[in-house]
Amino acid sequence: MVRKNEREGYIIGLDLGSTAAKMAVFSSGRKRFVQLKECPAHKYRELYEEALDIASVQSIFCTGYHRNSVPSGGTITEIVAASTWAKKRYPNTEVIIDIGGQDIKIIDIPRNDFRLNDKCSAGTGAFLELFASRFGVEVSELGNLHKKSTSPASITSTCAVFALSEVISLSVQGVRIEDIVAGLHKALAKRIFSFVPERIKEMSKSRRNQDASAKLKKSSSVEKETGVICIGGPAMNTGLVSALKDVLGLEIKVPKNPKFVNAMGAALFFVDNI
Ligand code: ADP
Repeated sequence: MVRKNEREGYIIGLDLGSTAAKMAVFSSGRKRFVQLKECPAHKYRELYEEALDIASVQSIFCTGYHRNSVPSGGTITEIVAASTWAKKRYPNTEVIIDIGGQDIKIIDIPRNDFRLNDKCSAGTGAFLELFASRFGVEVSELGNLHKKSTSPASITSTCAVFALSEVISLSVQGVRIEDIVAGLHKALAKRIFSFVPERIKEMSKSRRNQDASAKLKKSSSVEKETGVICIGGPAMNTGLVSALKDVLGLEIKVPKNPKFVNAMGAALFFVDNI
């Protein structure tokens, strides 16, 4: 909670994303985030005004697609914001899969490199929203629908347009929505997997071999901690994350507030520098 008279002040990270604007308020006195708030992207000015009310101008830092649309104490890219957050919170992180409203970024932390998929909407929040609205459900329900699937549909297209027409024809054939959702998540997970660095794909392959030999040896515990983190709004879709884990064959960590990671990263980046 923000306290009006707190002496130490607040450092605010704003992630002005393509779909949603997010605010993370860091209390320099209490050394932790005390408030997270979001609004639709087109209302970002309202969130900015709210931030101004809380902090002095030099304590607001921005990231995200619209980061240069408001005056601030400094801006950083989402890549830097996510990496900053991960290095501070999960120092073993190798890869961050950032699934946003309009794009997917795969950040390779040790190599200081990233891949951006903004050409095709498959797997992004926008695509999942389109799919959900076509079937009259909310995106927040997709995870539960996925869980209820007993026989995931086979969806071969990883292109958004073709995948959507494939799911529509499956629905016309009477395939249950739960199975379509699970099939769709699997197809999207495969698409996301194609952007993962080769090193991680190799790790995934060797982990599968380890798992197979552990099964042979009837060993019950195979260490699965790998340092793959999934962030962004669609990371709240447990079905998509579970499909990603299956395709990757590796454990994937989803932090508590995956949507706010970049806003928190923007604040943390500047915490040490002001
Ligand atoms: P950006 O930073 O690009 O604006 P976000 O990381 O804020 O994107 O993610 C926005 C997307 O998150 C939306 O497109 C929406 O589909 C998805 N989303 C939001 N809440 C949920 C939820 N509870 N479950 C699944 N997806 C969600």
